[in-house]
Amino acid sequence: MSLDRAARERLVRALADAMIAHAEELTSLDQAIGDGDHGINMKRGFEAVRATLPGLADKSLPEMLKAIGMTLVMKVGGASGPLVGTFFMEFGKALPEAPVRADLVAATDKAIHAVMARGRSEAGQKTLLDVLVPVQAVFAAGADGRAIAAEAAQAAERTTPMLAIRGRASFLGERSIGHMDPGSRSASLLIGAAVAALEFEVAS
Ligand code: ADP
Ligand code: MG
Repeated sequence: MSLDRAARERLVRALADAMIAHAEELTSLDQAIGDGDHGINMKRGFEAVRATLPGLADKSLPEMLKAIGMTLVMKVGGASGPLVGTFFMEFGKALPEAPVRADLVAATDKAIHAVMARGRSEAGQKTLLDVLVPVQAVFAAGADGRAIAAEAAQAAERTTPMLAIRGRASFLGERSIGHMDPGSRSASLLIGAAVAALEFEVAS
């Protein structure tokens, strides 16, 4: 997969647009089982990322991903900034300049493990890992963009009946059941936006 400058810029804009367009939805999910700031956090972070364009897209893909991660870690408060930021930073660090699919699979796997280490968390605890881990599994198994986006959306839905055992939602105990995890929803939106922006490049 080689992403030219225009494709890199399209990717960043798609990620930012998704977080900005869904900020209210993410905030209302976080109002139900958290402190109601997830939409604000993600919007602020991705507005800050978008503000580093056009220079951001001049960087190579790995350097661009690292820079996105650093901006998110710096600009986003709460649990999600360091976690989503770590994902992007470690994804960038693990990628060669012109990755083939196997490189993307290996790099996303490393990035997910870095998120787990940072959050002291794993899949099954009603966090964004409940989207990242199953999406990684279908990606590694050869899924195309459409199947990856579908799995992301379904995985976010599957967090609704789960009991939260990490993050603020865990303070609610059983009352966390019956609400979608906000971080899972934002992760699925980011994955869907990335797939839509990159489908042509990933397929080629
Ligand atoms: P905060 O919880 O600090 O208010 P946000 O509301 O922005 O931060 O983000 C909440 C989301 O972060 C949760 O929905 C969950 O997906 C994710 N999250 C919280 N703690 C962890 C953790 N320890 N490991 C993985 N993800 C986590
Ligand atoms: Mg919150």
